[in-house]
Amino acid sequence: MAEIYDVAIIGSGPGGYVAAIRAGQLGLKTVVVEKDNKLGGTCLHVGCIPTKALLFNAEVYDHFKNAADFGIECKSFSVNWQAIQDRKTKVVTKLSKGIEFLFKKNKVEWVQGFGRLAGPGRVAVTDAKNLSREIAAKAIVLATGSEAKMLARLEPDAKVILTNKEILSLPAIPKSMVIIGAGAVGVEFASIFHRFGAAVTMLEMLPRAVPLEDEEVAAELEKSFRKQGIAMHTGARVEKVTKTAKGAAVEFTGSDGKAQKIETETVLVAVGRAANTANIGIEKTRIQLEHGFIKTNQHMQTEEPGVYAIGDLVAGSPLLAHVGQREGIVAVTHAAGKPAEPINYLQVPNCTYSEPEISSVGLSERAAREKGYKVKVGKFPFAANSKAAILGVREGFVKIVSDEKYGEILGVHMIGPRVTELIAEAVMAMRLEATVDDLAGAIHAHPTLTEAVLEAAEGVHGMSVHI
Ligand code: NAD
Repeated sequence: MAEIYDVAIIGSGPGGYVAAIRAGQLGLKTVVVEKDNKLGGTCLHVGCIPTKALLFNAEVYDHFKNAADFGIECKSFSVNWQAIQDRKTKVVTKLSKGIEFLFKKNKVEWVQGFGRLAGPGRVAVTDAKNLSREIAAKAIVLATGSEAKMLARLEPDAKVILTNKEILSLPAIPKSMVIIGAGAVGVEFASIFHRFGAAVTMLEMLPRAVPLEDEEVAAELEKSFRKQGIAMHTGARVEKVTKTAKGAAVEFTGSDGKAQKIETETVLVAVGRAANTANIGIEKTRIQLEHGFIKTNQHMQTEEPGVYAIGDLVAGSPLLAHVGQREGIVAVTHAAGKPAEPINYLQVPNCTYSEPEISSVGLSERAAREKGYKVKVGKFPFAANSKAAILGVREGFVKIVSDEKYGEILGVHMIGPRVTELIAEAVMAMRLEATVDDLAGAIHAHPTLTEAVLEAAEGVHGMSVHI
């Protein structure tokens, strides 16, 4: 057999490619096996990046629609869907080339082909022509990601039944869309297509949208969506989806127990994701699965010696690109024999780029109370923030959940303008074990949206200045 790599990484999504670059930086001889002919995986090609690009287009379009509110006469404007698609592709291609460049810079090799474990320290790679070869490596990192789940008896297609993948290449903006599932994928696409003019109806099985977020945040999002004209049915049970001549008919039972039927041009199924563990050779290893996800320890090691798993594959880890990236760093740092700080999953930011945006870190108010903390909450509305007034935004808030005893910050929850950026301060505060008084004591520039964080911290003691 030819040369032995220090690390072989299967999958070049954000988990895999970041792991590879860090491995290169650490001086490890590294190879990445990627089944597609381009680097970047789901996040870059059919996930985070193209979705956020389209969300930005929708935001720009909103500015045109609301231009008169800002004293700008804009009589004629329209959407060029093809140009929007082209721009999205340009952004994605640029970033994908960027990874290739970074691989070269860090002496990371990559091969195209489907990778699978082929015995201790060996990865079999099958290329598009079905030719196989083997790679030997001291450590192997599984980073094969996840795929959207489908509803039973439903298959995605290019035009009507869609997942996060097909919806990104729709040939035109549909007139109507039913979105099944009001998690991150569902609410982000609702925010895109509603703003481009589609009539959007959301069907969420649980009693509220974005069920992983703090209850007050979910309520604010539902209020905003309804105000915008997005129909939101929570506690809805989807009974049947049938394709029709004009699209599909979706039958569901509402929270009131009544049967309803909606005719729609398109259906987006956004009911979560399943780990890509099939055909990667884990059956003959000691790797353990939990609900279809791979069990690891805090250094991302599986039960199989020398094999790590990172990203969407990992049991108990949130399916977020930035988590996969950090898990990749932990894995290769550990493989290099260097101290690798395990991830504190309570300090992972969650960001949903809907309109309004949502972000959070740590415990929700309910979770903190259930854990027995003596909870004190500070909440500050963007309606009372000067920068939000300048931006013309009145909805949303920052909410800080703290422990009464020492003012420990247990969780921070935000909904409103640019909150996916604002959450970084809260993450850092929690990492440094700052108290609400530290947060309130730090001078925040005026006028900025960050002042809402300061005032929410002051609000824990009932001392917000501007409400
Ligand atoms: P999700 O698990 O976040 O949400 C799925 C939603 O669908 C849930 O609210 C669930 O209750 C609902 N649901 C499930 N079955 C249903 C059914 N039969 N009928 C109606 N509703 C049903 O999953 P997602 O939104 O598909 O996203 C997949 C993963 O990708 C998530 O882990 C998510 O966090 C991640 N993601 C993150 C971002 C982001 O960070 N901005 C964006 C997109 C996706």
